[in-house]
Amino acid sequence: IVGREWHKQDSVVNIKGIPLGGNQIQIIAGPCSVETPEQMALAAQEVHAAGCRLMRGGAFKPRTSPYAFQGHGVEGLKMFRTAAEKYNLPIVTELMDARQLETFMEYDVDVIQIGTRSMQNFDLLKEVGKVNKPVILKRGMSATISEWLMAAEYIAAGGNHNIIFCERGIRTYETYYRNVLDVTAIPVLKKETHLPVIVDPSHAGGKAWMVPALSRAAIAAGADGLLVEMHPNPCEAWCDADQALTPQELKDLMVSLGAIAGAI
Ligand code: PEP
Ligand code: MN
Repeated sequence: IVGREWHKQDSVVNIKGIPLGGNQIQIIAGPCSVETPEQMALAAQEVHAAGCRLMRGGAFKPRTSPYAFQGHGVEGLKMFRTAAEKYNLPIVTELMDARQLETFMEYDVDVIQIGTRSMQNFDLLKEVGKVNKPVILKRGMSATISEWLMAAEYIAAGGNHNIIFCERGIRTYETYYRNVLDVTAIPVLKKETHLPVIVDPSHAGGKAWMVPALSRAAIAAGADGLLVEMHPNPCEAWCDADQALTPQELKDLMVSLGAIAGAI
């Protein structure tokens, strides 16, 4: 279902009236995790001020250590909803457990994010395949392109064809950066599937200063959008502080992306 051979034209995923795909680029920005109502209110204001039309934020966090902040869960979804509503920003948030799907529907999460660690959680994929909500499917950190495509097929097979692929960097021998952004995956995915492909430069580089260059590379290579971490005050972020852009850095990024997208 996700293969280009079955659908020649680029598919556009409609997120509450906002088109993503088919030459319609969307930048999704926001903090790694939902922390406080004040942080979310400021973040929403800055996402909107930068000209982004969609907001990200994690309420259920897949942390490496069980002793690290795990996210506020349902309380986080509430805080996110309230903050984003003020600017009419559809919300993107990670689903880790199928048992939370009903709650996600209740709080009207606009885009369900499947994280890198869940890409081959087939039971989770089958469940999101049954709902009528766009899904961002992140690439497993060690997944091949064909494994990634097949993971999407699990979602599509259930009837949900609103899938957005997200390249977020893969594991290699290099340790200077968090992951290696696989720019090659962008044209390959665009060839193999009709579905939109976006890039997360934040989890790829792991450092805020790398984000603008990786973002521009992604858009120049044909990505349909970005998923970027921005925090009103990165130094105080509870999670992924090193890679969060400041509000001003997000604004500058949006300007430089406009120049690239215009040139293409
Ligand atoms: C995230 O986007 O918040 C996240 C945890 O990313 P990943 O699944 O790519 O590590
Ligand atoms: Mn993060």
